[in-house]
Amino acid sequence: MSTNRTFTMLKPDAVENGHIGAILEKISASGFRIVAMKLTQMTKADAESFYAVHNERPFFGELVEFMTRGPIVAAILEKENAVDDFRTLIGATNPADAAEGTIRKMFATSMGENAVHGSDSDENAAIEGAFHFSGREMF
Ligand code: UDP
Repeated sequence: MSTNRTFTMLKPDAVENGHIGAILEKISASGFRIVAMKLTQMTKADAESFYAVHNERPFFGELVEFMTRGPIVAAILEKENAVDDFRTLIGATNPADAAEGTIRKMFATSMGENAVHGSDSDENAAIEGAFHFSGREMF
């Protein structure tokens, strides 16, 4: 059974480029309720742990450097079928392949600097949400 929550980060590029408001507007207009949200910055250890599944990949060092270079907006979102619907809303990893109207198509600049993260499973949504938020920060 799918749960109704997912986890997202507006990545450093989106924050630097002034897209927080526009992306949150799109998320909200797409029917997601914000359960938890904060501006925060990941340490190198945070990013290495968060993306540990990719630690053998050639882009890992670049990814960690990118994700730690400035603040991010971390959030937990609620909606029926949240994980799949949010992945649809953000679009393909590479913005060149992302569908028109998706967040990555609109705001990402490259495969690496792709504006937004979305959990890829219910299990990871719970793990990633708990990585950034305590129970007292979820509403
Ligand atoms: N990434 C990258 N180069 C690649 C693939 C991925 O820099 O060839 C980065 C990109 O920021 C991506 C993140 O690593 O969002 C995690 O990759 P994943 O395959 O999990 O993509 P996602 O689930 O974010 O679409």
